[in-house]
Amino acid sequence: MNYQSTLENIICGLSLGTGGKKPSLLMHACCAPCSSYVLECLCGHFDITLYYYNPNIMPYDEYALRLGEFDKLLAAFPVRFEAGEYESETYRAAVRGLEGEREGGSRCAACFGLRLRRTAEKAKKEGYDWFCTTLTVGPNKKAEVINGIGASLSSEYGVNWLYSDFKKRGGYQRSIELCKKYGIYRQNYCGCRFTT
Ligand code: SF4
Repeated sequence: MNYQSTLENIICGLSLGTGGKKPSLLMHACCAPCSSYVLECLCGHFDITLYYYNPNIMPYDEYALRLGEFDKLLAAFPVRFEAGEYESETYRAAVRGLEGEREGGSRCAACFGLRLRRTAEKAKKEGYDWFCTTLTVGPNKKAEVINGIGASLSSEYGVNWLYSDFKKRGGYQRSIELCKKYGIYRQNYCGCRFTT
C-alpha cells in the first residue's frame, strides 16, 4: 500500500471549517530533522501542534538536546509545540524482554505503540481532528507497521489517523537540506541504546 498517496488523497478531500479554519492536527514529532520536512508538507493544510513525546531517547542529555533543536523550527513555522513527560521507566516497561531485538523488529513496534498511544490519548482528550507522526520520514521506519498502529489507535480513540510514508517523495533528503538551512543538529542513532 502507498501510504503517501493515501495522505495526498486525504489532503485533497479536506474541507475548511467555519471562517476558513483548517482542521487541527496533533503531530507526534520524533525529532526536529524529521519534523522539518513534515511541517513543510503539511503546514498549508492543517492547524498543527507538534508533540514531542519520546521517552525512548537515551541518555537524557541527548533527549534534551533534541528537544532544544525545535526552537529553530518554531522560528520558521507557525505551529504550536508541546513536550510530553520523559517517562523513561514507562518506555523500559514497554520494551521489556525485547531489548535484544534488531532495529526494525518487535522492540520498535512496541516503542511506536507507546509514543502513538500517548499522542492518540492527547488528541482525543483535547479534541483534535487528526493525529499523525513524523516517524515515517526515517528510511528504516516501516510505514506498514507505523500506519497499522495508527489506524488501530484511531479506531480505539475515535480520532482520525493521518496516514503517511513521508520518505516516499524524497522526504529524508529534503529533511537533510532543511537541517542545513536552519542549522539543526542531526543525530546519528534512532533513540534507544539497545542495539547501537
Ligand atoms: S531503535 Fe528507535 S524505534 Fe526502535 S526501540 Fe529503539 S528508539 Fe524505538
